[in-house]
Amino acid sequence: MRLINRTAEAQERGRTVVAGIPIKSPRELEYMRQAGQVVAAVLGLLERSVEPGMRTRDLDTLVRQEIRRLGAKPAFLGYKGFPATICVSINNEIVHGIPGDRVVRKGDLVSLDAGAIVSGFYADGAITVGVGSIGREERALIDVTREALERAVALCRDGVRIGDLGHAVQSLAEGRGYSVVREYVGHGVGRALHEEPSIPNFGTPGMGVTLRKGMVIAIEPMVNLGGWRTALMDDDWTVVTADGSLSAHFEHTVAIGEDGAEVLTRLNGEGR
Ligand code: MG
Repeated sequence: MRLINRTAEAQERGRTVVAGIPIKSPRELEYMRQAGQVVAAVLGLLERSVEPGMRTRDLDTLVRQEIRRLGAKPAFLGYKGFPATICVSINNEIVHGIPGDRVVRKGDLVSLDAGAIVSGFYADGAITVGVGSIGREERALIDVTREALERAVALCRDGVRIGDLGHAVQSLAEGRGYSVVREYVGHGVGRALHEEPSIPNFGTPGMGVTLRKGMVIAIEPMVNLGGWRTALMDDDWTVVTADGSLSAHFEHTVAIGEDGAEVLTRLNGEGR
């Protein structure tokens, strides 16, 4: 999501809200768990399906059919006018690429972002995959971005501060010579795709909002091979690196628990 400075959204009567952030009930978490499993399933389907010569629109169609087959609704289609079910962002594109006639080629770095709704509750996830065989530089960028996400997830528990999560992502990525995107951030998720709070991929340990049991966030490191600055393409959606360098993106929807986190977008029984 775009980083916007704004006060916490109005809290709705009768719902538990802490510091402007909704706390999910067990029933709401169950809906989100189901939405998360749909997202995990379609991202797995995309990873298995993407191959040189495919149009990005074909990937989109595949997911639209699969989300419906699984009894859920696509979260992105029509969101603020977004015209597709998934975002497909290739090479120097960071996020929000619109599927269309573009064909993916061997060696491309493709970020795939999908969201699903079950009983009014959202889940959001993303992966970056190489098409066919990719270079060592591309592979290393994918690996560091996924590892940054896992490090942040590993810190999630009641009492963790948002700065702790951002620092985990930033210190790993920058320590290896990459940069993290500043202008787009992770977010709370639940009854809406984007809720409070913002979850930046940079920060200072011990600073920022304290997360509590029952909050659900989407953590989504966006890591660039070059500088952190971004630019927006003429379609008003596709975000690219300002210097044209490669970018990777991974995202999980994570429920904060007493002593750890439940990764809602991790396929049940699989370690990723
Ligand atoms: Mg997201």
